[in-house]
Amino acid sequence: MKAGVFVEPGKVECQEIEKPTIEKDTDAIIKVVRACVCGSDLWWFRGISERPKCSLTGHEAIGIVEEVGSDVTNVKPGDFVIAPFTHGCGKCAACEAGFDGNCMDPASKGMNAGYQAEYLNFRNANWALIKIPGQPEDYTDDQLNSLLALADVMATGYHAAASAEVKEGDTVVVMGDGAVGLCGVLSAKLLGAKRIIAMSRHADRQKLAREFGATDIVPERGDEAVKKVMEITDGNGADAALECVGTELSMNTAVKVVRPGAVVGRVGVPHGEDVNTAELFWQNIGVRGGIASPITDDRNVLLNAVLQDKINPGKIFTKSFDLEHIQDAYEAMDKREAIKSVLVID
Ligand SMILES: [Zn+2]
Ligand SMILES: [Zn+2]
Repeated sequence: MKAGVFVEPGKVECQEIEKPTIEKDTDAIIKVVRACVCGSDLWWFRGISERPKCSLTGHEAIGIVEEVGSDVTNVKPGDFVIAPFTHGCGKCAACEAGFDGNCMDPASKGMNAGYQAEYLNFRNANWALIKIPGQPEDYTDDQLNSLLALADVMATGYHAAASAEVKEGDTVVVMGDGAVGLCGVLSAKLLGAKRIIAMSRHADRQKLAREFGATDIVPERGDEAVKKVMEITDGNGADAALECVGTELSMNTAVKVVRPGAVVGRVGVPHGEDVNTAELFWQNIGVRGGIASPITDDRNVLLNAVLQDKINPGKIFTKSFDLEHIQDAYEAMDKREAIKSVLVID
């Protein structure tokens, strides 16, 4: 079968490799319909973080169950499913509390690769695969992209908004205009935010942010951005902030644009120094967030929201490729020519 393979920084190749087989009773083999490139893939593509050479790539997909291990009873061959990036067991304390991204089952770790391929082996398939009604041919191209977004990016944006405790009528600041930030805007809207201030300096992303529900755009950064948000909120600050970048500057801006008692929901992976929590004390500001919980949130909220046409996160996929052109899919995101690249496999 064909699969994406990391060759060296800046180079990903479509190679012919052996089709995966069931290794554990909790596995399922998925025939991939669509996969995509993640913003987090760019860290190793750019050589900023390490990745073993010749490793398989990708951690977001939708597809058809081809074969299941003997312990898998919730899904069966032929089912159409979301294959999220987490592999929650559904039984541990973390999964039960709704934090499937932090599943404590050792089998859930280290299986986040190989989704950019014709087939993938999915661990903890019984609980972690999310069943989609019907078959791929029942959905439009746009709907398939929206379902694919539930494997990671939309669930991650939602995790930022839920962690920030966004509620009806709130004013929310969203830091970051990448695919996750845009899904953060969509999530704030879904949770009833009235005013959504998107920090964005790219015209194509500003446009999509507005489509997703942003009422104000702030292109400034740092102290200038704080000043702008204070003007917009009559000097009060926002009720919540979503941090979808991960840099120290973005995090420090996020804690300065909110009112006392607000929560900053963070999903940007922290790189380098971080926020001074003693300063937060004097304003009663909370910071929470981390790895998203796609299994829990897709099942409880997001899958229905897509099926009922309340959200259309698939719009973040602005360029489409096949597996043979996987290098182009990465380059399009690396060069900011695409907000997010979809790989149409089958
Ligand atoms: Zn991802
Ligand atoms: Zn678990």
